[in-house]
Amino acid sequence: MAQVTTPDTADPARPWALLAELTHACPLHCPYCSNPLELARRSGELSTGEWTDLMRQAGALGVVHTHLSGGEPLLRPDLEQIVAAAEAAGIYTQLVTSGTGLDEARLSALCDAGLRSVQLSVQHADPRANDRIAGRPSSFAVKERAAALVRRAGLPLGLNVVLHRDNLDAVDDLIELGVTWGVDRIELANTQFYGWGLLNRAALLPARDQLVRARETVERRRERLAGLIDLVWVVPDYFDGVAKPCMGGWGAVSLTVAPDGTVLPCPAAASVPDLDAPNVRDRSLAWIWDHSAAFNRFRGTGWMTGPCGGCPRREEDFGGCRCQAYALTGDAARTDPACGLSPDHHIIRTLADHSSSQVPPPYVYRRPGAVPEAH
Ligand code: SF4
Ligand code: SF4
Repeated sequence: MAQVTTPDTADPARPWALLAELTHACPLHCPYCSNPLELARRSGELSTGEWTDLMRQAGALGVVHTHLSGGEPLLRPDLEQIVAAAEAAGIYTQLVTSGTGLDEARLSALCDAGLRSVQLSVQHADPRANDRIAGRPSSFAVKERAAALVRRAGLPLGLNVVLHRDNLDAVDDLIELGVTWGVDRIELANTQFYGWGLLNRAALLPARDQLVRARETVERRRERLAGLIDLVWVVPDYFDGVAKPCMGGWGAVSLTVAPDGTVLPCPAAASVPDLDAPNVRDRSLAWIWDHSAAFNRFRGTGWMTGPCGGCPRREEDFGGCRCQAYALTGDAARTDPACGLSPDHHIIRTLADHSSSQVPPPYVYRRPGAVPEAH
């Protein structure tokens, strides 16, 4: 999941970032994918015209940056038109891709439409391990080619790596891969347990000593790469005892639009029951941002109870993640159990402590119909 940092010029009452999930379809099958278990049907996706109008509305609302994501956004044949619409609305576009489907002609067309930068995902520095985790043969070779194309086109290139038990010991090699591919930025994001990631949590949760070693490696490499590559480490909140300031606060700086037009305060928010999530097919983006019950439900700090209510950190981490609070306690309004002050913190401690000694189960690969009956 992309990190949210607020630009100096942002209007605090307006969103500046848009995560546009153009499709849930994807050629890869990553077990950590944060897409929902029930993937949106392609027939229900917003049309070209609807995405074009959405970009116009987003620009008018104050959005200046969009991640064009999915699923795999390159599966949308109209991606160039969506990029052009964002560009016309004054929005900086960043393509978040697995690299599958990117060739010279497509990249050239995207650049002509106004594409500004690319984030390329990679699962492992070892090609065979990469392809096993991605659930698709030859995907590493495809990524390598995509990285070279982006470099040749002169676009800024970031490497996105989701970290877990299966690749944490390869952090040094992954950073070296980024150096070899000539990237400008490497985001090493410890798995956030939503969607398929939550389903596969027992297989993905690392041992504590893996995290210690990886963190030390990142610190060491960060010093050496200073001024050359921006090395970002997204904290493993199951292990740090600290809640993450998810999305910069609920309905504070960012909105997510799902492939079917559902508008959410964060990509996982559809998991919160009774959210009454609005849709751009029914309401304008401005109305949704200002007036919808979904965006106002956990906005600010007034909703907080328990330890968050009187906590001096409540304006910094916003009580942590509402979706994680719901997933672990059944109540989205409770303090995020990742926080050491939460009365539910033992849930996360138990999971983290046991992960070292457990034999991980096999992955349930992300595919329609792959979810076992019990879920
Ligand atoms: S995490 Fe993997 S499966 Fe999910 S959208 Fe990204 S590339 Fe596709
Ligand atoms: S109690 Fe709430 S506000 Fe305080 S640190 Fe924990 S999650 Fe953050």
